[in-house]
Amino acid sequence: LIGQCLESRALILLEDLPNTDLTISYGTGQTKPKTIVAFPILHDGVMIGVIELGTLNSYPPRKLDFLKSVSNNIGVAIHVAQNRKKLQEILEETQAQAEELQAQHSELESLNTELEAQTQIIQASEEELRVQQEELLQSNQELEERSSLLEEKNQTIQERNVEIQQKAEQLELSTKYKSEFLANMSHELRTPLNSILLLSKLMADHEELDKEYTEYAEVIQSSGQGLLSLIDEILDLSKIESGKMKLEIEEINIKEVAADLRSLFNPITKDKKLAFDISFDENLPINVETDKMRLEQILKNLLANAFKFTSKGKVSLNFSADLTYKTIIFRVTDTGIGIPSDKLNLVFQAFQQADGSTRRKYGGTGLGLSISKELAKLLGGDIKLTSAEGAGSEFKLTIPINYANNTAFLEQQQSQYELEEQHRLNKST
Ligand code: ADP
Repeated sequence: LIGQCLESRALILLEDLPNTDLTISYGTGQTKPKTIVAFPILHDGVMIGVIELGTLNSYPPRKLDFLKSVSNNIGVAIHVAQNRKKLQEILEETQAQAEELQAQHSELESLNTELEAQTQIIQASEEELRVQQEELLQSNQELEERSSLLEEKNQTIQERNVEIQQKAEQLELSTKYKSEFLANMSHELRTPLNSILLLSKLMADHEELDKEYTEYAEVIQSSGQGLLSLIDEILDLSKIESGKMKLEIEEINIKEVAADLRSLFNPITKDKKLAFDISFDENLPINVETDKMRLEQILKNLLANAFKFTSKGKVSLNFSADLTYKTIIFRVTDTGIGIPSDKLNLVFQAFQQADGSTRRKYGGTGLGLSISKELAKLLGGDIKLTSAEGAGSEFKLTIPINYANNTAFLEQQQSQYELEEQHRLNKST
């Protein structure tokens, strides 16, 4: 019916309907219509719908006219309602868009504040950078000034170094001349002295000579001997200083050295009623590669001093080894007069004795220790002294077990020297 009405665009009325399927439902039941009317709804001549109505009675022409006349109004009303709905939708859409815009706006705003904050941070770090750059520039400038100062100082040091070098060379040269002169002089002196010694001995041994003259001859003899040993010592020292002392390195037996020294010092031990202890540590190597004569010369000198400056107690000679540094150590210890602490370095210098009265009381020239120290150096080693006045002395001679291989010992000495230097620096600061 609706389709017919749409197509025909005219009111269709169905009256006196038979018992059809059509039902009209209402709140508490349902009934069958007797008459049905369908009429088109138009708006501006355009068909926008169809209204179908049913009634239990009939539609008189007056009602149909009414329906026809309101059909246009209904069309307008529906159109208006539809428009309103559309408007409502558009409004909602616009509102949604506005909200979205608002959200975007606030997002933009927060982005903006974030950007602003970042800009501020960048500005601050730029400022910091600028300050740092300035500081850098300043310290650069300072550094440049310092380095130019340093350069100046370096130059002066270099100049000084050159001067020192020149002076050292001059000194070396003059020492060499002096030593050569001394070596020659000693040689020249020795020849006549030997004949004096020989002749005085002949005279002393001469039986027909008066007792008085024999005694004179003996005095000449003993003074001559003293002079000869002094000349020998001077000669030794000059030889070492001028680098002319030649070593004879061979394999030597330590026990033999000990036996030699024992027999050499036995008489004086008895004479002075002292004890003479010789001891060997367990790890001691029996054979050592060094110059026997020079080693014995050092030990003889140290022992002679020990006996000379000891009137009671004992003199000891101990042999030990340090296998880490590949050295052999000789300790000469006595219970004698000792050396005051302020004289410990002095006694190693040529012609120096611990005090002025030493020569009067004990004789000697003050050359023995300086020769011994130089000889120890020649053998690749060193002598160290510990002593206190009245408390005896200990001289410690250290030499490499193998003359040709003393690097380990040198390293030890170097590190010891550095330690001492550090200690000294610490003290002074
Ligand atoms: P000399 O013994 O001929 O005087 P040295 O060079 O051998 O010369 O010794 C120098 C000085 O060192 C000695 O005069 C002495 O004062 C002191 N000295 C050396 N050894 C000892 C020692 N064992 N005990 C005490 N003083 C010593």
